[in-house]
Amino acid sequence: MATASVSNAFDASKADQLDQETRDLISRRGRSLGPCYRLFYDHPIHVVRGEGVWLYDEKGRRYLDGYNNVPSVGHCHPSVVAAVSRQAATLNTHTRYLFENVVDYAERLLATFPGELGNVMFTCSGSESIDLALRIARFVGRGEGVIVTQDAYHGTTTAASEISPSRGTASKGVRAIPAPDAYRQSNAEVSGIFADNVAAAIADLKRAGIKFAAMVVDTVFSSDGFHVDPPGFLKSAAEIVRREGGLLIADEVQGGFGRTGKMWGFQRHGIVPDIVVLGKPMGNGMPIGGVVVRPELLTQFGAKQRYFNTFGGNPICCAAGLAVLEVIEREKLVENARNVGSYLLAGLNKLKDKYQRIGDVRGAGLFVGVEFITDRQTKKPDSATSLRLVNGLREEGILINALGPYRHVLKIRPPLPFSEANADQVVRTIDDLLDRFQA
Ligand code: PMP
Repeated sequence: MATASVSNAFDASKADQLDQETRDLISRRGRSLGPCYRLFYDHPIHVVRGEGVWLYDEKGRRYLDGYNNVPSVGHCHPSVVAAVSRQAATLNTHTRYLFENVVDYAERLLATFPGELGNVMFTCSGSESIDLALRIARFVGRGEGVIVTQDAYHGTTTAASEISPSRGTASKGVRAIPAPDAYRQSNAEVSGIFADNVAAAIADLKRAGIKFAAMVVDTVFSSDGFHVDPPGFLKSAAEIVRREGGLLIADEVQGGFGRTGKMWGFQRHGIVPDIVVLGKPMGNGMPIGGVVVRPELLTQFGAKQRYFNTFGGNPICCAAGLAVLEVIEREKLVENARNVGSYLLAGLNKLKDKYQRIGDVRGAGLFVGVEFITDRQTKKPDSATSLRLVNGLREEGILINALGPYRHVLKIRPPLPFSEANADQVVRTIDDLLDRFQA
């Protein structure tokens, strides 16, 4: 289960170390928004502007954004801004009227998927997409049982939070299994262990009299600590899911839209899911999500169920989505993720040779994890170093975060136009800080 107590959230008891203006804004925010929201970093950042891979604070200081996958083609990308502004000035309505750009976008998006995945439905967020995917899977499979990984996060609606053990919620029909972990298992073992765990969970559902409907996986296992190796490890598990009459739902909210150096995270595993869930990077900040499905599933679902989502598939968000796809293609961002990702990985691997506390460096495109451990024998998670680094980097003008159940894995996941020079800055600064920590 998740160790939610380890966190990179701002601790209000340290507020006296901040300047008056920041303190005032934090207390106003708390008074009006209430206690459920969190801020990143010991010293929260007051952002006022974004451009490309940079964020700017209220004093004009710039920060290299090494963390945000929502502005995936770059903060305030001019092509997306222009497309959204043009559409906002022309028409915004919902999908009960006939208009072209939702169809244009659907066609363009589906062209990036294998042919079997022939329909797409639009939502406003990753959570809504997960919710819809679960409804389709449970309806078609006439079952309730869902398998997820132990520290998965799939969203914030009631149904999505019930399959998000990282938030400590679960329901009777949910079975949580350990995520694959090539750092603690050998590459040869990963696929088999994961498949065995899937089979055991299905057997456990059967014993409880719960019909198995689907397995949901984040294709980069981000909240589980980010596990991407060896490519292909999902194949055997997918075969078991199908053999047992379940559907495979790939959550691409983290891994999708070129992030991993391929357009879709599932492509690294040589599988075709039954349902794919889309979100975050889809509209470069506009609230759009989607569910891509095998049409035969929707034929069954649609015969009995209608779907209308007031804002889902609206022309402004579709214009943003179309512009994002065009920019990804024009600026060769999938290729850039692959190339700069490998370059960054190589730089960080050199640091692994230098610092014993770095246990593992792993990556897929421009999603890179650096795992900190207290020693290389026990591989015990070292949250203290990773969180100190996250805050240290923030002071040095680089924004990243930490993930995994113990927040001991640095999460480097920048906008896709990240350059080799940006990667150098990250590696150099991590090196300097780790050197300083040792002194
Ligand atoms: N799935 C995954 C893997 C996610 O990381 C998230 C968001 N962090 C979601 C689903 C939910 O997306 P949203 O916040 O847009 O509802």
